[in-house]
Amino acid sequence: MPKIRAGVLGATGTVGQRFIQLLADHPSFEVTAVAASERSIGRRYADACHWLLPTPMPASVHDLIVQPPEPGLDCRVVFSSLPSKVAAQVEGPLAAAGYVVCSNASAHRMDPDVPLLIPEVNADHTALLDVQRRERGWKGLLVASANCSSTQLVLMLKPLHDAFGLRKLCVTTLQAISGAGYPGVPSLDILGNVVPYIGGEEIKMETEPRKMLGTLQDGRIVDAPFVASAQCNRVPVRDGHTECVSVAFERRPSVDEVIEALESFRAPPEIARLASTPEQPIIVRSEADRPQPILDRDAGGGYAVSVGRIRPCPLFDLKFVILGHNTLRGAAGGAIHNAELLLSQRWIA
Ligand code: NAP
Repeated sequence: MPKIRAGVLGATGTVGQRFIQLLADHPSFEVTAVAASERSIGRRYADACHWLLPTPMPASVHDLIVQPPEPGLDCRVVFSSLPSKVAAQVEGPLAAAGYVVCSNASAHRMDPDVPLLIPEVNADHTALLDVQRRERGWKGLLVASANCSSTQLVLMLKPLHDAFGLRKLCVTTLQAISGAGYPGVPSLDILGNVVPYIGGEEIKMETEPRKMLGTLQDGRIVDAPFVASAQCNRVPVRDGHTECVSVAFERRPSVDEVIEALESFRAPPEIARLASTPEQPIIVRSEADRPQPILDRDAGGGYAVSVGRIRPCPLFDLKFVILGHNTLRGAAGGAIHNAELLLSQRWIA
């Protein structure tokens, strides 16, 4: 079967390069278009892009000419890693023009008719696309991936919420520099330092999980009924976001029950079949000093979330530390996984 033609918006950036890397050998998609800013438009991708990944830039994209992110791109699906303000202007018109838009940007994440997807968590939320098509009249469609920190948090919370009912959540993040894009945070601000502020991040972490763990009722998502409080910090780590999490449940579980719920969590069969679904989405570490970014961010090919230090919390019920790869599962990999889901559910013809 011929592969589906895909475009990458923001293809020269940190997440865009991950898209190019991950799509190079993808069984269902091939990159046929790349788009970026005025700085890059009209140039060969190989000339416009300052490649930052340790694997070579795939030869198949070297000669693609960078286009503006607008209708006219030679592809069926577009993966968007544009800055949010740009995404807000171009993603809707692309969906209206018939493209299937899988976005990493925050612009449309909280729109009531836009599914905010993690295939193992809420694949049923794609039913919102019927509402989206009806109300917006788009020929194409638009789905979003969550913020990188929310994604790994929600994946880990899913089996716990299902089993014990999440009531309260307090999370403090230690986020990698690559999460700020390229060139991102100036080296003098971050080397040997911690920056206790990431613009807009805390509100995303306090709202996106409630939507993703919410339930679909009468064509809309009813948010999951828990409260969340987030504090977000930038730390001098290249890749991999760490999060210290405390949770309170409707029914307080033991540490052993939590470990059992996390370790036994598997994607349903129709999701397990998708190319990017890791065999074990949640990996429990028993060592006292894990997870760590250098050791654990590539677990499950960068698609699994690692959890450790699971212990009682004197304020809430339990606390633990989680870690995930922010540009793989948390960004490009997550959006590609969503496109695989849309393909499997026949939203991509
Ligand atoms: P980045 O490294 O700064 O890359 C930005 C990309 O957007 C570049 O390709 C740039 O092209 C392009 N661009 C900038 N302004 C543009 C414009 N006016 N028109 C068209 N293209 C434009 O940023 P990033 O980290 O990859 O993040 C991209 C998006 O993904 C953001 O919305 C971010 O919030 C989201 N995200 C990032 C992460 C992460 O871990 N980094 C995780 C989840 C979500 P030029 O090279 O031509 O300037």
